[in-house]
Amino acid sequence: MKTITKQESISGQPKRPAEKTLTINEIYQSIQGESTWVGLPCVFVRLTFCDLRCTYCDTEYAFYEGEKRTLAEITEAVMKFDCPLVEITGGEPLLQKNVVPLMSMLADAGRTVLLETSGAHDISSVDPRVHRIMDLKTPGSGEVARNLWSNIDHLTTRDEVKFVIGSREDYEWSCDQVRQFNLPARCGAVLFSPIFGRIERSGISAARCMATVSRSRSRLKERSIQRSAGFTTTLRSAPP
Ligand code: SF4
Repeated sequence: MKTITKQESISGQPKRPAEKTLTINEIYQSIQGESTWVGLPCVFVRLTFCDLRCTYCDTEYAFYEGEKRTLAEITEAVMKFDCPLVEITGGEPLLQKNVVPLMSMLADAGRTVLLETSGAHDISSVDPRVHRIMDLKTPGSGEVARNLWSNIDHLTTRDEVKFVIGSREDYEWSCDQVRQFNLPARCGAVLFSPIFGRIERSGISAARCMATVSRSRSRLKERSIQRSAGFTTTLRSAPP
């Protein structure tokens, strides 16, 4: 009796290798609202699932909702937008291992690729052409214990580290991490992002000041500080 191998279907025909898929929540074009890429047109690919539950999360709809799409389908959908900048976000994109080849496919296609990640998962396997925007979760997030500190060693000047700040304690904690790990020397930008409604305007000045001095200047062609929708503080830079 013939043994059916993994490469054959029951009919005896060779079986095509399964196409790689990802569960996608949404793909859309908008204006980048965060990081040093703020203000630029950007296609967002939002992946489903997250294993964290930050107290300030505004994308809970991405925890479970989504549909499976092949990498080829996702790439095709992105390429339909005539937009050079693409951000892979979530949820937490690195929970799905096929996001790594997707980012390489988009870079191969000539797109500038950003990855937004919580900092709780290993970033070392990400294509070096990708700009990683990595959170370090502050105490106020409720998820500070999930920071994967070994990621710090993998940061390069293409990457940015973001602190979401909801209190004076978060701010002091963030300053400590910036100093302890000498983050301005390790990455392209350090971003302090105060939470709307949780922190007084007087606290913004301090956070903005720290963000400004900790910014790596070598990549900057232009810098301005923007405050949008009240308290969100970001740094703006033309791409390198
Ligand atoms: S990591 Fe991001 S998506 Fe996940 S809970 Fe925190 S803020 Fe929400």
